[in-house]
Amino acid sequence: MEVEVRGVERYWNPILETLPPLKLKAYQFKKFKRIIAWAYEKSKLYRSIYDKAGFKPEHLKKWDDISKVPIVEKEDYLTAQAKEPWPYGDSLCVPLEKVTTYHQTSGITGQPVYQPETWQDWEWWSETWAFALWAHGFRNNDRVLIPFGYNVYMASWAGHYASEKIGCEVVPGGILNTEERILKMRELGVTSFMATPSYALNMAEVCRNNLGMDPREMGIKKILCSGEPGASVPNIKKRIEEVWNTKVYDQVSATEVGGWAYECASQPEGLHVNEAFFLVELVDVDTREPIEELNVPGKIVITAFDQYAQPCIRFDTKDISMWGKPCDCGRTFRILKDGIHGRVDHITKIKGVLFNPVSVEDVVRSTPELGDEYEIIVKKEREVDEVTLRVELAPDVSIPEDEIKRKLSRQLRLKTNLSFNLELLPPHTLPRPEVKVKRFKDYRI
Ligand SMILES: [Zn+2]
Repeated sequence: MEVEVRGVERYWNPILETLPPLKLKAYQFKKFKRIIAWAYEKSKLYRSIYDKAGFKPEHLKKWDDISKVPIVEKEDYLTAQAKEPWPYGDSLCVPLEKVTTYHQTSGITGQPVYQPETWQDWEWWSETWAFALWAHGFRNNDRVLIPFGYNVYMASWAGHYASEKIGCEVVPGGILNTEERILKMRELGVTSFMATPSYALNMAEVCRNNLGMDPREMGIKKILCSGEPGASVPNIKKRIEEVWNTKVYDQVSATEVGGWAYECASQPEGLHVNEAFFLVELVDVDTREPIEELNVPGKIVITAFDQYAQPCIRFDTKDISMWGKPCDCGRTFRILKDGIHGRVDHITKIKGVLFNPVSVEDVVRSTPELGDEYEIIVKKEREVDEVTLRVELAPDVSIPEDEIKRKLSRQLRLKTNLSFNLELLPPHTLPRPEVKVKRFKDYRI
């Protein structure tokens, strides 16, 4: 195990990460007003939304006035980017010559959002990730593999630049396949890597089954997980930590927003919001009223204080979380308990019961007789909702399938209040994802 880091060495930015709450709030309000003024002056997108709502930057006199600023959604970006000049239309706030990098959202839920950055924006992006890496314990004696194809998506680049920034030695995993990546890790004595929770499990499986190597003996000291909810859910984290015999740290990032939340080495079963760079608000899903109480789920609305090419102000992420109690690591940044719980558009009603697919993942990961891959299928049969869980068995399971089904059924009912049809599949039947995976398939619409 690694030596615990104490004192200011614990923080990437010892001043900002430990600002007393009132000072932090004053700092945030100042930065909030600055980005609002910038967007109102430079962005046709924001100006038209604000004018339509009758909002002007000078209306921001006190903290509570923030709730008067209209919330924007992904669709607002898409509408603005559909205008001339292509590809950024009304969303770009700087001359095109100032744009130095291009990224885009994954487009899993439709048309992608194009993301321009100035060099200043891009420096800021890697800084947001540096806070996370440092809090996870990454230092200049780490050799880090980035096992993703470097392309138009953000995560591999941000992880790469931030690792370099804090002094790690970066091994770009680029176009290597999973087996080649693992062999490269062993060859070089890599100490850590970054992955989605699914891919971290997939890599362990390939390591064991295809290469005959034990992932627990690879000497991996930590894994940064990002890109999917899960690494803050205790059973999911535990499963990844066990298969790699390591520590897993969660980090949340979104292309339109930045790397805005991270887990610290104290692992408080939640994530610190980087409140020096972002204003994170939790609002009621229906009424959009602010939620300040602990343990009350709400939707996350984010402002990035320092994105200038394409500002992100009161952006509706559609992610769900809740505030948790403060962490003992000394950071004053607030905690989002269990990280991201899922997305509003994935939470649906089945047989009249509110259902979040992440709760099924929690059950699957806490059942040792089950493998890592599964899918949830919802259909309508004779006007009645039917929900099926298809899940792979772990290799060499000796317990009868009926017994596993009984146990699984009980756990699912406890967590979701629903009865599932269960299909237990042989190991390695379902496809293995490298990046984001669609495990929830709702065929009712
Ligand atoms: Zn902490």
